[in-house]
Amino acid sequence: MTKQRYGIIGHPVAHSLSPAMQGAAFKALGIDAEYLLYDVEPDKLEGFLDDAPKKNILGLNVTIPLKIAAKDYLERKGQLDENARRLGAVNTIKFTGETPSGHNTDGPGFYRSLVKDLNFEPEGKSVFSLGAGGAARAIVMYLANGPRAIYVFDSDGEKAGALQKYYKKYYDGRKLVITDRDGLKEALSKSDLLVNATPVGMREADPSPVAKELLHPGLYVYDLVYNQLSTRLVKDANSMKLHAITGLGMLLYQGAIAFEIWTGKSAPISVMKKALREEIGKKDGS
Ligand code: NAP
Repeated sequence: MTKQRYGIIGHPVAHSLSPAMQGAAFKALGIDAEYLLYDVEPDKLEGFLDDAPKKNILGLNVTIPLKIAAKDYLERKGQLDENARRLGAVNTIKFTGETPSGHNTDGPGFYRSLVKDLNFEPEGKSVFSLGAGGAARAIVMYLANGPRAIYVFDSDGEKAGALQKYYKKYYDGRKLVITDRDGLKEALSKSDLLVNATPVGMREADPSPVAKELLHPGLYVYDLVYNQLSTRLVKDANSMKLHAITGLGMLLYQGAIAFEIWTGKSAPISVMKKALREEIGKKDGS
């Protein structure tokens, strides 16, 4: 029998950390499966997904720039879970069963890491998202109405406005407050959690996206950057004895939840984490 296949689709996908993490998980559970990289151009997506079951593909991760197009496909030809439907983006597809199903594990992955790794429960707290792009949207839409307030600042005001408009469609819009550069300091002073959802920090030499003077005692910091073992923001926060982590945990848990959706088995978290760490080490932070 042909080997079970899983993989990640995107364009490009060459630098993905998922093969190392998912491959290690399959091996640890004794599942005879391979996890492959599929570089799929956007206009080839439909044909690729139509043919996936014929190639013995049982599950896929989906990355940039295909997440919205994958959601559109599953809306037409499969089904979407509630989270993917609300977010309007799919990062995980399962092909077993009658029709393919689309899921999004970014928000749940962030949440699991936030609670387990940072020991932070967002319910009733104030959360500040620096950045309003794809990652921020996944997080904000998953936190939903749980926090008391969600402050958002993005250097691109239109993106922040679009996130607010989107949030309001589903949740109490009064909870999500867009701030401008002048209001950043005050909003941050009222926040319990700072999430860096900008790419600032991805390069080793990057400064912190937030001046250290704006951090305050008791603030929790979650930097979504995962390709560095630490970032200037996390180092600044640690030097003030604040609880702060990078985005490795979100990456880990979004993958672990995808694995659980595909296989129905508990993901081997420590094995997956070790594989991710080793892979990031190999890439030497680039
Ligand atoms: P994105 O869609 O490009 O959004 C980032 C937003 O931040 C953009 O609107 C950008 O505006 C804005 N921005 C850039 N610098 C800023 C600054 N100094 N202050 C305020 N806003 C600023 O990116 P994304 O896909 O959401 O990813 C954001 C970060 O999350 C990246 O580091 C990515 O690696 C990370 N991430 C981590 C995980 C994980 O599993 N840990 C998952 C997804 C993403 P401009 O476009 O005008 O620059």
